[in-house]
Amino acid sequence: MDTTSEKTLQSGQEEKAAKAPDTSKPEGMLEVHYIDVGQGDATLIKCGSHAMLIDGGNNNKGTTVQLYLKKQGVESLDYVIGTHPDADHIGGLDVIVYKYNCDTVIMPDYEKDTKTYQELVDVIHDKNMKITYPVVGEQYALGEAKFTIIAPNSNSYGGNANDYSVAILLEYGKNRFLFTGDAEEASEAEMLTNGIDISADVYKVAHHGSRSASTQEFLNAVHPKYAVISCGEGNSYGHPHAEVLNRLRSMGVEVFRTDEQGSIIASSDGENITWNCSATDSWQSGEQTESDRENADNVTEQTTYVLNTNTKKFHRETCGNVSQIKEENFQKVQMSREELEQSGYSPCKNCNP
Ligand SMILES: [Zn+2]
Ligand SMILES: [Zn+2]
Repeated sequence: MDTTSEKTLQSGQEEKAAKAPDTSKPEGMLEVHYIDVGQGDATLIKCGSHAMLIDGGNNNKGTTVQLYLKKQGVESLDYVIGTHPDADHIGGLDVIVYKYNCDTVIMPDYEKDTKTYQELVDVIHDKNMKITYPVVGEQYALGEAKFTIIAPNSNSYGGNANDYSVAILLEYGKNRFLFTGDAEEASEAEMLTNGIDISADVYKVAHHGSRSASTQEFLNAVHPKYAVISCGEGNSYGHPHAEVLNRLRSMGVEVFRTDEQGSIIASSDGENITWNCSATDSWQSGEQTESDRENADNVTEQTTYVLNTNTKKFHRETCGNVSQIKEENFQKVQMSREELEQSGYSPCKNCNP
């Protein structure tokens, strides 16, 4: 029995001893659904008749996630992980825990004094369930798949809720998927030293692509082939940040984004991973620079004007003087006021364009 490949994982060895060696290809498929919940996270993992949910989007996304699960034929959840108590992760989970049978609810031992957090805890108590705290190295089975808790590795990160994020490595045959919630640099540094191999085929980019996470050292250790960014179009945080996109791009990682592509589905047969869409090639960060904003303004200010090429005046289309322009001097253009003035045209005093 080969015990070196999983030297850090006690329970993994037991599991291997009891079952066939894990070189055998699983029979079914594993599906990972990165659900589009705007700015936030919600990931459904299906393996045969087994399912789990990591986060449930913001407060107004509970029903969105519920309907998604319903459409996917999910009837109960083996596991629900609330990575950390921020609203964009646990906001919708109260609906899910209320509506679904959830065998195990995993959340970090960190409370947040918010209505969102309290609502979730109340539902968990009302259903006579209890929260399972994450223990690094512990493994859980999800049908033919399994996952290992890899963070948090400390019990205090001050007031930074993100670093308390529960992180897991999901394995199915030879394929590996990494989820780290909103874990930032401090937690990433610990994941690099806890002895667990975090290399993965698919990396769900931490903290919506924020520069506060996905350090180069961390990415080197994960060495992903694919990355998925879950964030909202035009979000106010500027996610994903350019630094993170540049790191992924320079490493040749294929990137998928919910803000551009909607819900993203990865399917694994234990050896190969296929996707429901092609990787994005926009490499567009969510940040707007000052010059981006000016350019955007200029674009929106491009209007249709009517020129009199003889008098070098420009008019609004609706100006009464337009009908008097001789045909040979008449020209319609789509330009900004500034561009016209630079070309030697002056605004008509009647319509004041
Ligand atoms: Zn978040
Ligand atoms: Zn967060």
